[in-house]
Amino acid sequence: QGIPLTAHYELGVPTVHRTVVDFANFDHGATAPALRSVETAVAAVQRVSGSVHRGAGHTSRQTTQWFEQARIEVGRFVGAREHDHVVFTRNTTDALRLLAHALPRRTQVFTWDSAHHAAQFAWTGRNVHRLPIPASAQDALDLLTGALATSTADHKLVVITGACNVTGEIWPIAELASIAAEFGARTVLDAAQLAPHHRIDIDELGVDWVALSGHKAYAPYGAGALVGRSNWLDDAQPYLPAGGATRTVTARTVEWNVGPARHEGGTPNAVGAIALAAACATLAKHHEAITAHEQVLYTRLRDGLESIDGVRLVSVLGSDRPNVGVVTFTVDGYDCSLVSQVLSDEYGIAVRDGKFCAHRLCDQVIGGCAVRASIGLATQPHHVDRLINGVRKLLAHGPAMDYVHTEGVGWS
Ligand code: PMP
Repeated sequence: QGIPLTAHYELGVPTVHRTVVDFANFDHGATAPALRSVETAVAAVQRVSGSVHRGAGHTSRQTTQWFEQARIEVGRFVGAREHDHVVFTRNTTDALRLLAHALPRRTQVFTWDSAHHAAQFAWTGRNVHRLPIPASAQDALDLLTGALATSTADHKLVVITGACNVTGEIWPIAELASIAAEFGARTVLDAAQLAPHHRIDIDELGVDWVALSGHKAYAPYGAGALVGRSNWLDDAQPYLPAGGATRTVTARTVEWNVGPARHEGGTPNAVGAIALAAACATLAKHHEAITAHEQVLYTRLRDGLESIDGVRLVSVLGSDRPNVGVVTFTVDGYDCSLVSQVLSDEYGIAVRDGKFCAHRLCDQVIGGCAVRASIGLATQPHHVDRLINGVRKLLAHGPAMDYVHTEGVGWS
């Protein structure tokens, strides 16, 4: 498509990385550097610095207009339907907590033990049915069918992982949503890892809500969204009862807003929301080119690492699953934090090590921590070769420097 993928990074790469010549970013799964369109949006909003929905002054009106346009853009990004709400949140964790807050009483929630902790633990205090880690996509479908068939709850919610943050494997989202619908259960898609890499259409997938994080989608920290059905959200008490959520207050009564504002109490993060929308617009425009770029690199990386004796790749649903561009691996004889440090300090490569906020998956499938290389817009083909070469050299010759043992640093 001829999109200038790397050009987006002329301004977007953080200062600290500019000191490293051609730094290789394989940590997009944690947080992705800002797009140029995001930086432009941030600067524009900061220049005006108005408060959303607060007053008729110019700065407030301008910021409010951008903020509400951003809501439409973020909704469009995931194919929101006419009556869906787009509620701005801090991130995916917060979006899932908001939904948990809005669940009708005694809703039974279904999650897998392989899910990110945010998707497992948003529902504390609720009736949670924990499904074991599936051995394949079919197994995931069967586990859900079995669990829903025996549930007698009036209200049910299935939490579907879009793409696994440990393996990058894309889950059978539409199939799971269809099973859920058969049993009268609603669904929320944890799209934290999926949204930056793949087109999402809430209607085509048949899910009720989508939760996503801006900082993984090349937008700033502290901005995310919950998009989906208004019903349940409009019936719930405000998530943050405060200014913005209130419509009228008298000596005796409080009337709360309906719509997204009901759950957006306090001055909203206008910079984050508007910049998130800018990222969504850019990603939506280049979705096919992005996927093509990432899939070529993914295959090259996976095949390269797989060919090294002493490297083990991690898979849960099966290596044939579609993947958002994540290769997670262990290196025989080396602690994952040491591998991460060697790649960083000797090769200028950022990866993530640890248990990726998915401890049960890591303990059960890997037997501890691992190293995750996650591809994104800033990754280039020669970065892939550098990573493969770095791991090869580590296995052949050991580390080139002495490292302070940091085992466990990245275990969250
Ligand atoms: N779900 C998945 C699959 C994730 O990868 C993450 C972030 N690692 C989250 C949820 C939580 O996202 P955040 O930390 O932005 O709230």
